[in-house]
Amino acid sequence: MSKIVFLGTGGGRVTTMTQLRSTGGIYLELSGTRIYLDPGPGALVRARSAKIPLEKLDAILVSHNHIDHLNDAAVLVECMTRGVREKRGVFAAPVSVLGSKEIPAEIPKYHREAPEKTIEVKPGMRFKVNDVEVECTRALHTDEFTVGYRFFAEKTISYPADTVFSKEVARAHKGADILILNCLYLVNENKCKDVEFAKHMDVDDAIKFVKHIKPELCIIQHFGMGMIRAGPWTQAEHIEKETGIKTVAARDGQVFDVGGECAKKEGLEKFRKD
Ligand SMILES: [Zn+2]
Repeated sequence: MSKIVFLGTGGGRVTTMTQLRSTGGIYLELSGTRIYLDPGPGALVRARSAKIPLEKLDAILVSHNHIDHLNDAAVLVECMTRGVREKRGVFAAPVSVLGSKEIPAEIPKYHREAPEKTIEVKPGMRFKVNDVEVECTRALHTDEFTVGYRFFAEKTISYPADTVFSKEVARAHKGADILILNCLYLVNENKCKDVEFAKHMDVDDAIKFVKHIKPELCIIQHFGMGMIRAGPWTQAEHIEKETGIKTVAARDGQVFDVGGECAKKEGLEKFRKD
C-alpha cells in the first residue's frame, strides 16, 4: 500500500510562527519505502501523534535551506539512525543545507555523518531509496540550490517544492500522476521583485503548473496567511475550474491513499470534509 500523509500544510514565516497550519512536512510510504519530505518545525511531534514509525524511515529529503522545510531534519536523522547508533537510511539535501567550503551547513556534521548515505542533490540527479527511484528537479527559489523531487513508484508523484512557475520547471514534472504544489500565496505581488520572499508560488503559478503538467490529481498545500484566510479549498476549486484537473487542498493530518484511481471522486470526499 502507498500513502501520503500531510503532517503540515502551512508554509511561510507567519504561518510557521503562529502554527495556524502545522509545518511538519510530508510523509510518503511508497510500496513499503518510507520517505520524509521537508520536515519543518513540528515534524517530530506531528509524526509521533500520527504514529509514523520514524525509526523505520528509509530516507529524509530536504528541498532547500529555509526553516519551514528543514527545522526538524536533524532530529529525524536521529530517529532514522535509532539514536545515531545504526548507520542506516538516506539523507538527501542540496549544498545550501549540507554545506561546503564556501557555504555554511545548516545541519550539524554529527547528523550529516550519521546516515548510511548522505547525498548532495542537484537538479537532474537520480538515486534510489529501496525500489523507489527519486529524481531531483530544478526550482526557481530564493535559495538558488533548491531542488524539487519526483518519485517513481506505484504512481509518479511530483513535488516541485518552493518555486515560481517556469516552463522549464514544469517540463521536468510532465506525466506525473499526483502533483503536490506548495501554493503559498493567493496573489504574489512580489514575484518579479528581487526580495527574499519573492520567489514563491501563487494560485496563478499553480494554474500554469497544472495546465503544463496535466496530472491525474493536484494537491495544493504549504499555505501562507492569505491562502488560509481565503480558504484553501476555494482556491483548489478555482484551480480545478481553470484547468479541468481534479484539485484538492490538503489539510493537516490528512492521509491520502495513493493506490487506485486518483481522480475518482469518492476517494477525495474526505479531503473536502476534513
Ligand atoms: Zn522556501
